[in-house]
Amino acid sequence: MPELPEVETIARFLRGTHGLAISRSPHPNGPLGVLGRKFADVQVTWQRSIAEPAAPAFCARLYGQSILEITRRGKFLVFQLEKDWMLIHLRMSGDLRVEPRDKTTLGLHDRIIFNFADDARMVFNDTRKFGRAWLLKDPQQVLGTLGPEPFDPELTADAFHSMLHKKKRAIKPLLMDQKFLAGMGNIYTDEALHLARVHPLEKASSLNYSQAESLLRAIREVLTEGIRRNGASIDWAYRGGDFQNYFRVYQRNGEKCPLCGDKIERIMVSQRGTHFCPSCQPLEKG
Ligand SMILES: [Zn+2]
Repeated sequence: MPELPEVETIARFLRGTHGLAISRSPHPNGPLGVLGRKFADVQVTWQRSIAEPAAPAFCARLYGQSILEITRRGKFLVFQLEKDWMLIHLRMSGDLRVEPRDKTTLGLHDRIIFNFADDARMVFNDTRKFGRAWLLKDPQQVLGTLGPEPFDPELTADAFHSMLHKKKRAIKPLLMDQKFLAGMGNIYTDEALHLARVHPLEKASSLNYSQAESLLRAIREVLTEGIRRNGASIDWAYRGGDFQNYFRVYQRNGEKCPLCGDKIERIMVSQRGTHFCPSCQPLEKG
């Protein structure tokens, strides 16, 4: 599932400010990305891909609106349009591609085809059909429930420690709870906990100030590294990144811990495969 670094990479690609855009742009020598393009007719082949409003109203309202800005909030892609905001959540297997309108045929799993007024289109492909798009007057209607961004300067070590202090849950599912912190998923949570040497089942409230500080630093470090490597291309449609070659523990069970050489183990935490080093990440008070 795409997490913060993968969604950030796609947002940069769509803004045309990213190296990846060159190979995927409809105009190899022309403007990159979709910033400034104007929506024409939009087709929806899987109605439930549209969360709000109903698909016919979604298509009608998009028509004629230009894309003013593309950003990311948590795992949401945020398109600022002239009159509305469009949000897209890729969930398990969603992907967006930009291509010439008529030169390529559409695929079986292409759920939303955004034709632009020029000769390009943006296609939302989603094999598993969990991805969703919204068209809203106020994006806070959906984004308002999200916790802080990991890179928010107001998220200081002090603030993070007091957030953790109030929670009695195990640290791993808490970090993946989008209402607590926006953007983290299974991969980057395992990587950050290992870097900070915190056991995935440790009770959040039991972390002291220095553990909270090093965990926040570790979260920012693994996300920064993920973005730098264009995300991880693993078990989902996205193919541009290579962070999967630099995992410390994720899916490395049975291999040697890069810190101590002991064997990395895999356990289930909240129904998610969880990878950690029992020597570097001992359970203290969980
Ligand atoms: Zn270790």
